[in-house]
Amino acid sequence: MSYQHIVVPAEGEKITCLGDPKCVPDHPIIAFIEGDGIGRDIMNASRRIWDAAVEKAYGGQRKIAWMEIYAGEKAARLYDGDYMPSETFDALREFLVGIKGPLTTPVGGGFRSLNVTLRQELDLYACVRPVKWYRGVPSPLRHPEDIDVVIFRENTEDVYAGIEYAAGTPENEKLARFLREELGAQFFEGSGLGVKPISAFGTKRLMRFALRYALERGRSSITIVHKGNIQKFTEGAFRNWCYEVAREEFPEQTITEDELWDQYGGQVPEGKIVIKDRIADIMFQHMLLRPKEFDVIVTPNLNGDYLSDAVAAEVGGVGIAPGGNIGDHVALFEATHGTAPKYTDLDKVNPGSLMFSGVTMLEFLGWNEAAELITAAYEKTLAQKIVTYDFARQMPDATEVSTSMFASTVIQNMDA
Ligand code: NAP
Repeated sequence: MSYQHIVVPAEGEKITCLGDPKCVPDHPIIAFIEGDGIGRDIMNASRRIWDAAVEKAYGGQRKIAWMEIYAGEKAARLYDGDYMPSETFDALREFLVGIKGPLTTPVGGGFRSLNVTLRQELDLYACVRPVKWYRGVPSPLRHPEDIDVVIFRENTEDVYAGIEYAAGTPENEKLARFLREELGAQFFEGSGLGVKPISAFGTKRLMRFALRYALERGRSSITIVHKGNIQKFTEGAFRNWCYEVAREEFPEQTITEDELWDQYGGQVPEGKIVIKDRIADIMFQHMLLRPKEFDVIVTPNLNGDYLSDAVAAEVGGVGIAPGGNIGDHVALFEATHGTAPKYTDLDKVNPGSLMFSGVTMLEFLGWNEAAELITAAYEKTLAQKIVTYDFARQMPDATEVSTSMFASTVIQNMDA
């Protein structure tokens, strides 16, 4: 395929499949979107770290061929005001794996979230957020080491489906009339209206994905987090469909929490995963007070959005929380924080979120040696108390460094 502004690197090869096993050449072309605001600083720093780790781990035999693709403000400058050019989607569909910095989204108007558009257009239905504590990271908890969860947030449905009608519009009035007159619904005049679709199809493929992940990595439980006590036919149905997948498709590998106590005296039998569920609101308390009880979490879109940032805050904040948006055909890893516009080009912020998203991407590609090198070097850097401003303000005797200097220190620590 030919592109208008995207330059396909001559020295790289395409990743051709993301199934099991994945088809990853030694010089894979990986797409990146720099991102708005602090995106440039953290992408430059992180790419240096990823490249150094791959070079160190494989002695030049493996190397990423980076291919810049465009979204957000940089795209608008290049493509005549188009914030999400169609060739960005084409390139991701052709090259399958990418990583992105944050993108600006206006609140309450303007264009629709570019992040949501990417997830929906490319059907990246699973937002995967591993959250664990790294030694030395400042945390408000007494035992942050108890947190080691992977949150699977449904990425394409729920109130993010974009089915919303502003108060006062003809569409809103038509829908309001239908709801009142045909279905007997009651709500205040002049309400904005939104629709929350949650399907068996969308729920089951997410649960299947999480179950396979948990089995491959020897995880011990999956907790379905929902608000089914109130939203019975969306969140309640989500819970029921998740259990159905476990029961019907993984009967040998899964047991419910009731079975765990009734049949196994509370001891998880070898090779089994316990499937349990919790109401979303109490889950925030559990993750503060009893985080050890949770391992893999599966949840609808909005719960997952809140929960993943809240749990990330317990182990260092969104500045270091990684994320990946994964579908059956394309995977797009991303920093989980926003564009923090006041820090644009100041070379100041923490590159950790994007850097660890890249670690998750390397693991996804099966390049675990490079991923481990980065994690070890990061922990070493933290042990030296060399940090960016956000951690420095929580660590009284730390040395505060810039984004680029932090990256250089992590790279040096790969050699140490
Ligand atoms: P934000 O950009 O995440 O920034 C909020 C605050 O979080 C910052 O002011 C900063 O705190 C801290 N922070 C964020 N990234 C950091 C980093 N790398 N290192 C250290 N601290 C960091 O959230 P926002 O201000 O609500 O959103 C700004 C824009 O980003 C909006 O347009 C929003 O839509 C967009 N956004 C994009 C994504 C995405 O692309 N995935 C996600 C969320 C938001 P201090 O002020 O305390 O230093």
